[in-house]
Amino acid sequence: EGAGEALLRVIGLSKSFRGLKALSNVSLEVRQGEILGLLGPNGSGKSTFINVVSGHFLPDAGEVWLGGRDLAGLPAHDIARAGIARTYQIPRPFPQLSVLDNVAIAAMYAGRGISTLDGGRHAAHEWLEFTHLADKAHQLPGDLNLHQRKFLELARALAARPQLVLLDEVLCGLTPTEIQSAVTQIRRIRDQGTTIVFVEHVMDAVMALTDRVVVFDQGTVLAEGAPREVMQRPEVMTAYLGV
Ligand code: ADP
Ligand code: MG
Repeated sequence: EGAGEALLRVIGLSKSFRGLKALSNVSLEVRQGEILGLLGPNGSGKSTFINVVSGHFLPDAGEVWLGGRDLAGLPAHDIARAGIARTYQIPRPFPQLSVLDNVAIAAMYAGRGISTLDGGRHAAHEWLEFTHLADKAHQLPGDLNLHQRKFLELARALAARPQLVLLDEVLCGLTPTEIQSAVTQIRRIRDQGTTIVFVEHVMDAVMALTDRVVVFDQGTVLAEGAPREVMQRPEVMTAYLGV
């Protein structure tokens, strides 16, 4: 598993914020069908990578190839339609819409032939079933606990029927039992054919889930390889400990 050809190929991606190089000439590949762990200390550029690849920020330079198409610089909705979905480190539902309609809107936004709210709701029921939120369909996001809000984020991302989903710290703040449930859920997402980039600090989950990891440090790729081997490299331990 996880040994497919490249689905996403990022070449020379750079992004600065007022002189601060959040991403500096980052190149990496995500293989079809894998769960790629994206690791690195706080501030190393992981969320910026997700924001740029998903079109939420414009890159300063670089290419983002999905299949035969360079998506770099396209607006977020075009990138979503091309097949890349993402979650936010802090869940961002529409607070005034029901759980069901939050997912329905996501299904419509992706433009996969769903153009009516009824069609969106129909698809949304399926994704709420998949994420164990079916009994919360008619509640508001504010009625959900953190674990359920994170699963709502997953349902919204999946409703776009992406080829690739970028998960930004979906386990953050969850209890050990909830983490186990989320790890199982993420494996199910991959098993139904979606490729995953998994940004996470919870190392047990990284070890359990990922086929391969890439470690960022100060906006550059510091290391890449099998999770257990990479985490033992001295330069990676140094980056994490900050010594
Ligand atoms: P990570 O997700 O690895 O913790 P980020 O990508 O969030 O790191 O941040 C990388 C660097 O870019 C940090 O120094 C952060 O302060 C900066 N940064 C991220 N987003 C913005 C932004 N919208 N405006 C200004 N600086 C930002
Ligand atoms: Mg982050």
